[in-house]
Amino acid sequence: MDWEITMSETKHITRTIITSTLTLAVWTAAPAQDLPFTLTEVGPNVWAAIGGANPATGSNAGFVIGDDGVVVIDTFASAAGAKQLLAEIRRRTKLPVRFVVNTHHHLDHAAGNAVFIEAGALVLAHRNVHGWIRPENLRLLGMSGSAVNPELKAMVEGIALPAMGYDHELDLHLGSRLVRVQWMPGHTGGDSVVTIPDARVVFTGDLFWHRGLPNLIDATTASWIETLDALSAAGPDSAFVPGHGGLGRAVDVTAFREYLATLRRLVSDARQRRFTGDALAATVRPTLAERYGQWDFFEYLAAPNILQTEEELNGTKRVPR
Ligand SMILES: [Zn+2]
Ligand SMILES: [Zn+2]
Repeated sequence: MDWEITMSETKHITRTIITSTLTLAVWTAAPAQDLPFTLTEVGPNVWAAIGGANPATGSNAGFVIGDDGVVVIDTFASAAGAKQLLAEIRRRTKLPVRFVVNTHHHLDHAAGNAVFIEAGALVLAHRNVHGWIRPENLRLLGMSGSAVNPELKAMVEGIALPAMGYDHELDLHLGSRLVRVQWMPGHTGGDSVVTIPDARVVFTGDLFWHRGLPNLIDATTASWIETLDALSAAGPDSAFVPGHGGLGRAVDVTAFREYLATLRRLVSDARQRRFTGDALAATVRPTLAERYGQWDFFEYLAAPNILQTEEELNGTKRVPR
């Protein structure tokens, strides 16, 4: 059956889904009138940029306009996407972009950093991100075992690093407006959630994927589930900007939590029946498909999600340290 793919193939596909579009994005800027993202004002002067599958973006981003400056959340997969985001900010305010938050080290959220640094911004992230951006993205690109495209390698080695790191929580004040940055575990170990309390908007980075299977390469699902419980407690009137997929509510965060919990339960059951590796993936996948087969990336990420959860439950999963 065509979904019975090997362990090395699943790693290749996981790598490909993140990077295939980026190769093009390194050189190709979309025409200015053709935005590679959809902008939505999700709260007063709080904008979500939903990137979809466009190669210039590869993920979602956003920005917050305060009294005396702007905070940008994530910088897309390319300088081209970041430049278009900056242009859209400039259309809405003359205030300086003072801070950029990288929600984590994955290159689809940080590759455009230099565009905002050139515009005068300070890039900040959880303290782990500075040391992970270049080596961990290169490792991810090289997971298939084949040589990394030299231009893509140069792009990753040139990603501008955060100038500031924080441990647990950081408050940014844009005059009277508070933007709160908090570390939460799950997706990589260096993830930040950005909350704008006065607008009840939460930028989750890749801790929340809306109706999509997540990338679990660097993940720890046990702590991720606890993070999602904490996030969904924000209540039904909060808006959530995910790392991938459209805008969501707490109920959607809970649905994503249920995906991770279901994945762990199915993999755990199969382990108890002595399945391992590709045979385990083959027995779990159809049950997972009954509930989640329509979610984004299911075809590409179901098998890697299963195998990486097996590694986590075995205690053999490699995560960034
Ligand atoms: Zn992402
Ligand atoms: Zn990510």
